[in-house]
Amino acid sequence: MTATLAAPVQDRNPLVAARSQLADAIALLDLGPGMLDMLATPRREVTVSVPLRRDDGSVEVLIGHRVQHNLSRGPAKGGVRFSPHVSLDEVRALAMWMTWKCALVNIPYGGAKGGVTLDPRQYSRGELQRVTRRYTSELMPLLGPTTDIPAPDIGTDEQVMSWMMDTYSVNRGHTVLGVVTGKPVALGGSLGRASATSRGVVHVALAALGHRGIAVRGATAAVQGFGKVGRDAARLLADAGVRVLAVSDQYGAVHDPAGLDVPALMAHVDSTGSVVGFAASEPMDAGDDLLYLDVDLLVPAAVEAVINADNAHRVRARVIAEGANGPTTPAADAVLADAGALVVPDILANAGGVIVSYFEWVQANQAYWWSEDDVNARLAERMQVAWEGVVAYAERRDISLRQAATTLAVETVANAHLARGLYP
Ligand code: NAD
Repeated sequence: MTATLAAPVQDRNPLVAARSQLADAIALLDLGPGMLDMLATPRREVTVSVPLRRDDGSVEVLIGHRVQHNLSRGPAKGGVRFSPHVSLDEVRALAMWMTWKCALVNIPYGGAKGGVTLDPRQYSRGELQRVTRRYTSELMPLLGPTTDIPAPDIGTDEQVMSWMMDTYSVNRGHTVLGVVTGKPVALGGSLGRASATSRGVVHVALAALGHRGIAVRGATAAVQGFGKVGRDAARLLADAGVRVLAVSDQYGAVHDPAGLDVPALMAHVDSTGSVVGFAASEPMDAGDDLLYLDVDLLVPAAVEAVINADNAHRVRARVIAEGANGPTTPAADAVLADAGALVVPDILANAGGVIVSYFEWVQANQAYWWSEDDVNARLAERMQVAWEGVVAYAERRDISLRQAATTLAVETVANAHLARGLYP
């Protein structure tokens, strides 16, 4: 963030990326510097210490954050990340992107994000439960179904959401189902939530292939990241007739020019914890090589800034559908645009997760649950409306899909802010 940072570091700082995308949208909308400042600055930030008693009796103090970026359109909504890379700048950027995502797909939330800086693989289940409960407890004044509603993100899952919901409920003295989303179905979760992000990614990825004149059946794809988003994206792509040539995780990548057997790979990951060593495939020398394959579709579904100023010129995919948040830096965006690649931006491509989180919250608050077909149909409808709106706006103004998506979202949030007026 400071002028002393070297250019590559700036390029890979997600907050620098998020602010530059916002500035771009503000200029396209001809809004003034006051609105830029307003929307570049998070509404509320909390940093907490999370003291943990380890299983061996020692005490370790972890650091957690929660950032509420904007509340003009409704309660704050956004995931909680458990990762060694969590920093306040990263959480700020992710919170801002959540604001735009909710506005773009027209759900009545503002954006938030949270995280604890730890590598969950280094902690036992009991330790992770204690971290989750203490972190939730420290955030009690912020959280609630009408104020701030967390969800899973990198390193967290349905179990973490169950502990958060239980900790909040016990402290309130009654069960509050609507305080988190991404809960297990047995605990008031929604059918279809677990695969919703992937389903949305695949919906717009297939639409983008069609937009580029590439037939879906027989198209080729590579998927980076084989977690909650990547694995179901790979499965749904294969179900649609796309040949998934390569997938990776943080441990390595596997490749099969004939197309991977995704269900068999999922079973391998379930038993070993990684894609590495999957028998019916070739290992790739370096995990990042997957990004440079000559494929029709690339789905980055892992972490930020993986396509950046240093490597964007090596990416050969025709369409890039961003399952992850912030995988492409602004410098890389420019390189990819020059090369003619179509980038479907994160706030559109991975919005399926927050759309079904919204459905989960609606169902939980009404204590009335929908069928999985109903959830999936409503998700597809919203993804399609958002996709068409972004493509039409991009064509009308001759701008990229990212610029179009961000500009539409910023306009929606700015209008909400202007209608409410500045207090006092
Ligand atoms: P996850 O923890 O379930 O999975 C992350 C995956 O990425 C793992 O397979 C991990 O091994 C892999 N990975 C990490 N670093 C990597 C690297 N350098 N190269 C290759 N693989 C790497 O997390 P997730 O929930 O699937 O989230 C992935 C991305 O999608 C994040 O950017 C997240 O913010 C975004 N996202 C998630 C949701 C959701 O509903 N879970 C919704 C919207 C966006």
